[in-house]
Amino acid sequence: MPTQDSDYNLLESVVREIGGDDAIKVAGLLNPKEETTDEAIAAGAEMKLNAVRKILYRLYDARLAEFRRIRDKSTGWFIYFWRLKPNRVEELVINRKKTVYRKLKARLDYEKRFHFFKCDQDYCPRYIFDEAMENNFKCPECSNELKAFNNEEIIEKLSKKVDELYKSLMESGVDIDHLDTGAKDDLGQIIATGKVAATIDSESLLGSD
Ligand SMILES: [Zn+2]
Repeated sequence: MPTQDSDYNLLESVVREIGGDDAIKVAGLLNPKEETTDEAIAAGAEMKLNAVRKILYRLYDARLAEFRRIRDKSTGWFIYFWRLKPNRVEELVINRKKTVYRKLKARLDYEKRFHFFKCDQDYCPRYIFDEAMENNFKCPECSNELKAFNNEEIIEKLSKKVDELYKSLMESGVDIDHLDTGAKDDLGQIIATGKVAATIDSESLLGSD
């Protein structure tokens, strides 16, 4: 399922930020359901125990992992049992969805609010009516004629994505109306900076913050 893949990718990128490839190895040996010891992880990852512990505490700081400890009666030492924190992963995924929802909603509002004009060159930007008129409907980049640009397809794609995210966030119990307030700020930013690509690149919309 695509959702699970993207959930996994998100978790992986967060873990990588915490400790690079070693952290990926350690987290890969942790399980949300079953506990495991730092020694078992060190053996499985073929890493030194100290290095494993360091990463485990970083994951713990990021609230991605949790532990339980018991005292070994024969040796008197503590044994640590670790596992991934499943709710935290879900929380990360929801946060990412909120961000993307806000961005797409702002972009959608922008597409709906303005009429756009564009020349025939793919690489030239679009212009809103006021800008096109100021330039006598000649493209400032290439001097070709600026014609009305139909953004229905963009609106359709964006609406679909926004609806999907809306439903998904509702199902997770997120207060969408509160997020809409944020979308207005995002729209302000888009209008202030002006230039927006004439195409929808879902990678660039969804891939970064
Ligand atoms: Zn042009």
